Amino acid sequence: MRQKIVAGNWKMNNDLWEGMKLASEVVNMAKDEVKGQVKLLLIPPFVSLKSVADLAKDSTNVFVGSQNCHEKENGAYTGEISAGMIKSVGAAYIVLGHSERRMYFNESDELLAAKTDAVLQQGLTPIFCCGEQLDIREAGTQVSHVTSQIEKSLFHLSAEDFKKVVIAYEPVWAIGTGRTASPEQAQEMHAAIRNHIASKYGNALAEEISLLYGGSCKPSNAQELFACKDVDGGLIGGASLNSRDFIDIAKSF
Ligand code: PEP
Repeated sequence: MRQKIVAGNWKMNNDLWEGMKLASEVVNMAKDEVKGQVKLLLIPPFVSLKSVADLAKDSTNVFVGSQNCHEKENGAYTGEISAGMIKSVGAAYIVLGHSERRMYFNESDELLAAKTDAVLQQGLTPIFCCGEQLDIREAGTQVSHVTSQIEKSLFHLSAEDFKKVVIAYEPVWAIGTGRTASPEQAQEMHAAIRNHIASKYGNALAEEISLLYGGSCKPSNAQELFACKDVDGGLIGGASLNSRDFIDIAKSF
């Protein structure tokens, strides 16, 4: 069965102390309230990664990831952080290609291919984000846009490596806007992504890949989104900053 995942992307929110408080609440609530087969991921800013990972280290269902990494292992790249460094503090996941990084930091499909390799080389799990802007959805070319993002950044991988990737479909027009994709729109895109993966790697492998939906997901709409056949969980921004909301989303399967 595909892994169900609910990941909380804190973005540039919460200082160390606020982050530790939120992480402790999530770890405690997850122990009592969240079903065994759902994995929760906390994705704080780099400065809180070690402390949050320490808080989650004895948890059976809460794990930790970072929001980005550099594509090189080390060297003269002032201000950057490598996948190996992220691994060394106890994180197991790295989000790549979030639309905010594509938009504000000009991350290209080619750069994201290199970052994916760097993450996999460390034995960590990439959470690869893809999604279309509103004008692309309005033009009706969203499926080819998203499958092309996946193809350009991930289709160089061997089947063995591709199996380790988690994909998050996040329509840009739904991120932080309060406007969510309908369950039909989410399912249509997730099925298209799975079919595209199957065309390259075969059905059996495509069936194993966890596909998350992201974009204004909250307790009031998580259930209908997670009920879709090809939606295996969510990448949550705003609602992950509140422990009650985040746990309620994780209980929506
Ligand atoms: C995100 O940042 O990945 C996201 C989905 O944000 P929000 O839930 O706030 O739309």
